Amino acid sequence: NKQVIFKNFVEGFPKESDMEVKTSSISLKVEEGSNAVVVKNLYLSCDPYMRNRMTQSDQETNDPEFIPFTPGSPLEGFGVAKVVDSGHPNYKKGDLIWGMVKWEEYSLIENPQLFKIHHADVPLSHYTGILGMPGITAWAGFYEVCSPKKGEKVYISAASGAVGQLVGQFAKLMGCYVVGSAGSKEKSEPNLPQILVDLLKNKFGFDDAFNYKEEHDLDAALKRCFPEGIDIYFENVGGKMLDAVLLNMRLRGRIAACGMISQYNLHQPEGVYNLMNIVGKRIRMEGLMAFDYFPQYAKFLDVVLPFVREKKVVYVEDIAEGIESAPAALVGLFSGRNVGKQVVAVAKE
Ligand code: NDP
Repeated sequence: NKQVIFKNFVEGFPKESDMEVKTSSISLKVEEGSNAVVVKNLYLSCDPYMRNRMTQSDQETNDPEFIPFTPGSPLEGFGVAKVVDSGHPNYKKGDLIWGMVKWEEYSLIENPQLFKIHHADVPLSHYTGILGMPGITAWAGFYEVCSPKKGEKVYISAASGAVGQLVGQFAKLMGCYVVGSAGSKEKSEPNLPQILVDLLKNKFGFDDAFNYKEEHDLDAALKRCFPEGIDIYFENVGGKMLDAVLLNMRLRGRIAACGMISQYNLHQPEGVYNLMNIVGKRIRMEGLMAFDYFPQYAKFLDVVLPFVREKKVVYVEDIAEGIESAPAALVGLFSGRNVGKQVVAVAKE
């Protein structure tokens, strides 16, 4: 059983060497009535929140997003898997599931809280993204937290990623004007910044897009794209971007604070100086946590599964092959190496 072991707590940017792939053994059988299952992991999801779990913390929390990983044990994260044995009444051998698994080929999960996959006519990897946690985040964040209206002007940062590409497409379906920003993939691929911006405009149908790494003045870039200002900002990066956006928000604008990835690896968070705009412009800024919306998963699927089947929404995934590629894939999120949702393919069904 190959496992991706978390070696020790991390300061600053995570590195591949903070993890190592090791082999151990696991029993593929569980006792009846044990309330446990053994699953074969098919896809592992790389998500930015996993960086939080690499930091040592003394604070008590029940929030799975903030429970630190255990050094010497495998990382944990969302995944798509197949049940190979079950001692739990709700799951049986052969069931496809998505939920919290460990970063290994096979996982023993005690007291599982896993979603069963009832619709396998779409790519199973989608259950790490558009039909999984990032999908719920985009759906709840846009439709509920942003209170959008047709014709409103929407800006999304990290717009080519797992969450951002969906928010932009939901906003287009609602008849909004949509602009996204994204960065480059790798410095060694000089034409990629343009490709990412093309992706936003041509594949996802955004009205406009810019590469934030090429803009010396974010305020000027936003004024160029939004001469009349922004009604809705879907916040994924924080820091300087948030500061520039605050200057460009319209009266009674809304900001869904989904994440602030530019801050996750910093010792000292970057200052945000333009917060007073929230007062004068009566802006509503609201945090959102995907987990709060998991009880609404069925309602979410009713909306988003037809979007997938009818190709009203497209979803770009960046699939790394093999569990050995998992550390590099995870670390790559923090330099923007991924194009679209970062997934690791571990095994075939
Ligand atoms: P992505 O697929 O968008 O991957 C992360 C992307 O962030 C990278 O590809 C990179 O894109 C961008 N990025 C990395 N470092 C920086 C930086 N310093 N400044 C600006 N951009 C940077 O990830 P997700 O879609 O999964 O997540 C997006 C955001 O949503 C994150 O902040 C995440 O924490 C948050 N989130 C929050 C949830 C919640 O429940 N609140 C649930 C899920 C996600 P680029 O090439 O554009 O630089």
